[in-house]
Amino acid sequence: MFGLFNKNSGSESLPEWFTTLEESKERLFLFLDKLEAKMEELCNAAIPELKEQLANDEDMYKRTFHRVYAGINGQLSNIREKARDVYDEKINDLYDNLKSEVSVLHPHYDLLSKFRTECSDRYNKEFEEKYQYWRNQLEKTQERDLEIEYQKILAEYDEIKNSFNCKQCGGNITIEKIFFIDTYIACSHCQTQNTFEPSSQARNLQNFARNLAEQRVSHLLEIYHTENNKERELYHERHELSLSTIHEKDKKILAQNQSQMDDLENRRKEVIKNAPKLYHVYLRAMYDEWNKITPDLKEHHEKLYENQINY
Ligand SMILES: [Zn+2]
Repeated sequence: MFGLFNKNSGSESLPEWFTTLEESKERLFLFLDKLEAKMEELCNAAIPELKEQLANDEDMYKRTFHRVYAGINGQLSNIREKARDVYDEKINDLYDNLKSEVSVLHPHYDLLSKFRTECSDRYNKEFEEKYQYWRNQLEKTQERDLEIEYQKILAEYDEIKNSFNCKQCGGNITIEKIFFIDTYIACSHCQTQNTFEPSSQARNLQNFARNLAEQRVSHLLEIYHTENNKERELYHERHELSLSTIHEKDKKILAQNQSQMDDLENRRKEVIKNAPKLYHVYLRAMYDEWNKITPDLKEHHEKLYENQINY
């Protein structure tokens, strides 16, 4: 605020609406500070609790966890909505009202556009980034779930694989692998068919195996998304460059710009070619992980894979 006053010969030269802008901006920043502190407090308290809930909950469907998780997520969304409401009401409306009075030719028009940019950056970039950060941290509490579930199933398998006995002769029957459906196993001593009934957590493996596989290779999906997003970025960069030369007459500058634009377009075409390849790398890795987790379903997985890449 002081900086702006100093730049001018005196405060009289500033329009009276300038104070309103400064006050609104200040109030928005303070309000967003508070909301960010709230998100941080909420998540810092909830995340360790959620993790503990997940680790200790015996319920296979983790219903308590999901209820609490949904509750925290809801509270986060409420905070975000509050920020949006205040931004729309106090900043956008004020800007729109003033814009109808202050034309582009107004000597202080730049104060108005600066106000808009600063508020928008604070809200759309800074606040939104923090919201997404906490949203991701919260989501990650679910991820541990599957790896832990899987470890539990492995531990259970280690325990039972040599302790299953024939109902007829009592002879030991080795469980060769993790089964997740009822399976007939012939006794090697007396040939009697025995039914092996997997535990409920082992049965559940086929329901979450794919999610677990996806989690394990999520970094590859991230690489694909980053590459894919570049397409839009390069497009916009080129577009802005083309706008910047609308009034340009200098042929040398125009030629320079054109070559820059061509360069951007070439890079964009590269990205368009490269992104699907990266997606395939992700997919193949995901299916490999999936096959490792539930090898019995490999044939089925591979059919899905073929469908997905030929789609
Ligand atoms: Zn037997």
